[in-house]
Amino acid sequence: MAHALGAGASVSPSVGTDASLRKTGFKDHNKLRFDNKLWITLSSVNLKSRYSSTKYQFKVMSMSVQQAVRSKIPVQPLELENANEPPLNLYKPKEPYTATIVSVERLVGPKAPGETCHIVIDHGGNVPYWEGQSYGIIPPGENPKKPGSPHNVRLYSIASTRYGDSFDGKTASLCVRRAIYYDPETGKEDPSKNGTCSNFLCNSKPGDKIQLTGPSGKIMLLPEGDPNATHIMIATGTGVAPFRGYLRRMFMEAVTTYKFGGLAWLFLGVANTDSLLYDAEFSSYLKDYPDNFRYDKALSREQKNKNGGKMYVQDKIEEYSDEIFKLLDGGAHIYFCGLKGMMPGIQDTLKRVAEQRGESWDAKLSQLKKNKQWHVEVY
Ligand code: FAD
Repeated sequence: MAHALGAGASVSPSVGTDASLRKTGFKDHNKLRFDNKLWITLSSVNLKSRYSSTKYQFKVMSMSVQQAVRSKIPVQPLELENANEPPLNLYKPKEPYTATIVSVERLVGPKAPGETCHIVIDHGGNVPYWEGQSYGIIPPGENPKKPGSPHNVRLYSIASTRYGDSFDGKTASLCVRRAIYYDPETGKEDPSKNGTCSNFLCNSKPGDKIQLTGPSGKIMLLPEGDPNATHIMIATGTGVAPFRGYLRRMFMEAVTTYKFGGLAWLFLGVANTDSLLYDAEFSSYLKDYPDNFRYDKALSREQKNKNGGKMYVQDKIEEYSDEIFKLLDGGAHIYFCGLKGMMPGIQDTLKRVAEQRGESWDAKLSQLKKNKQWHVEVY
């Protein structure tokens, strides 16, 4: 797919996820192609500026410099950019939208416990959404609790920006972990009790039809009022989904209405290196935007915390607590997304840190909530 840059130049962006980024090399989108134009290269210069770690070749053409920098991917602004409110519940469970699976890709390596898939869905532009919203999916079949009725809707955070991984506003991506049931007595998998919808999604094939509802949710919308704001994102596992959307909006797409110049700081907690999600994508932002992006990983089965125990996101939060508290005092937004079980440990850590600083966590938390700095979506 090529996106016009003007003046006959176009880029071919990589649209995939970690695995395909690894395969194609994420930096492919920097390669400028000059369709049907005869450019006479007079010289090349290596430029070191904010991209100090890498040398970038600039071709000088006909006395004008055509910049071949790590450009963001141009997107044709959608009408959604002008709306004051996000789209909500355009499709309801009684009349869902029939969408089509574009691709299903395993995101994790062989040593990851469990499987997580990146699923791209074609909604034809008919189920638009904002970053941080969720889609509902109705798996096929009958609801075992209500014979004759369809299954209940399952919600999934959308892991792409409103432009989708195809950059045209026609797709949405989900990050889905298969729910597998292990018998507590035998320790063996019992397929009859595996999660219905997550397995349906991870088993689906390109071209399969799926029933969509939504979009829903306002809690995790990215506040864009101040493009220089600080956003601290705490994710466990698939909880990274909305943050992938935010980060692509901040660092990957050339969105004219949102020119991010603040700080985005992602804490991602997973079991081990093989379980990391979208790591190549996030690492590329670290290289390109070292002043605007921070990325800390907590690998519970590989790293130890300062007490010799497993490293969880709350241990990373504690490690950086001074900075985090200062940023919160300065108005930073903080987001939490992932399994419900993540919150008690995090809350305990934040409370302990606040007390060590001579602050009341309860008072601070209610102030953060009042200021709309505190955003939680756990499931
Ligand atoms: P279900 O069929 O609903 O089963 C639920 C659990 O019960 C499974 O673990 C299953 O193994 C177990 N089970 C089934 N039968 C039995 C039985 N007889 N006895 C004991 N146990 C049984 N998930 C993601 O992966 N990614 C996301 O981005 C995401 N975002 C979410 C956002 C929101 C706002 C919410 C609310 C949830 C989100 N979820 C997400 C969770 C998702 O909605 C589903 O809950 C999850 O995928 C499990 O659904 P399922 O149909 O596969 O499992």
